[in-house]
Amino acid sequence: MSLTITVIGLGQMGGNMALTLKAAGFAVTGSDLFEQARSRLAAQGLPVVAPEELPASDVYLLSLPTSAHVREVIEQSPGLLSLAPKGSVIVDTSTSDPQVSRELAENVIAAGLQWLDAPVSGGPKGAASGKLGMLLGGDERTIERVLPMLEAMSAKRTRVGGPGSGHVVKLANNYLCAAHLLTTAEAVAMAAKAGVEPAACLAGLNSGSGRSAVSEVNFPEWILNERFDSGFTTGLMRKDLRLARDAAEQLGIPLPLLQAVVDAWHGNADHPADSDDFNHIATPILARATQ
Ligand code: NAD
Repeated sequence: MSLTITVIGLGQMGGNMALTLKAAGFAVTGSDLFEQARSRLAAQGLPVVAPEELPASDVYLLSLPTSAHVREVIEQSPGLLSLAPKGSVIVDTSTSDPQVSRELAENVIAAGLQWLDAPVSGGPKGAASGKLGMLLGGDERTIERVLPMLEAMSAKRTRVGGPGSGHVVKLANNYLCAAHLLTTAEAVAMAAKAGVEPAACLAGLNSGSGRSAVSEVNFPEWILNERFDSGFTTGLMRKDLRLARDAAEQLGIPLPLLQAVVDAWHGNADHPADSDDFNHIATPILARATQ
């Protein structure tokens, strides 16, 4: 039986995920707090409803800015806890606070629903092409139930544990990505000051052990050609870093490099605004090569 899916949050990621699932043949309804987001997707053929008109579905797929928004959609009155049919699955694809996810998962399961955290990598492009990477936190039975939907959205899925685990690993991943943006920009600036072209430097790094997704994808696609249209904002990366730092503090584990990365991303006046593409964090560092 094909799943019925309601996608809640029709932004850069959720809008594209909804269209991908519809194109794959699922019965998809979209919803967003903002009329503008709903009409943008309605114009592309997606059936949309206002938040107070959510239909009964097998799956509620959330793509929301923060855990506070996820909590609101689940627990507000009336939220999914009271609206969703028993046995339906809440899948949180947002990059959320793992502590909050674990608490929400308990409440969701106690209400007779199922929970899966499924944070994603690959940006709006990956969402539009059904080629996301997904980290899964939930039980095997829940994953099995929604597998056809996950397969339509993603090229790679990795189960990392029970509820909340997907969000833990997503924060670890984004900490590394944020750090690689800073360190790769410093490495390229150093080489440029020493007379090596950035493209040549990157070709060298990508043939060696210093390579990463940042050197292989971010620099060629968005930074060196100054396109800065990845669809992921500096504000969202700052949120993810603060979540990672808060998680480390709650766990009582000292991670001095994580704190240094958080500080570097929240730094000076020449830093990008929250609304800027996150790759802009490299801009002031690369500019040092020409000073
Ligand atoms: P976005 O801001 O473009 O979209 C979020 C949408 O949620 C907006 O349309 C907003 O109106 C809607 N919304 C907010 N509160 C709502 C509510 N209570 N009910 C219904 N809709 C509500 O954000 P995005 O870039 O699509 O990111 C979504 C999530 O995915 C974030 O947690 C982000 O960290 C994560 N993420 C983003 C990317 C990326 O490249 N953009 C990549 C991986 C993960």
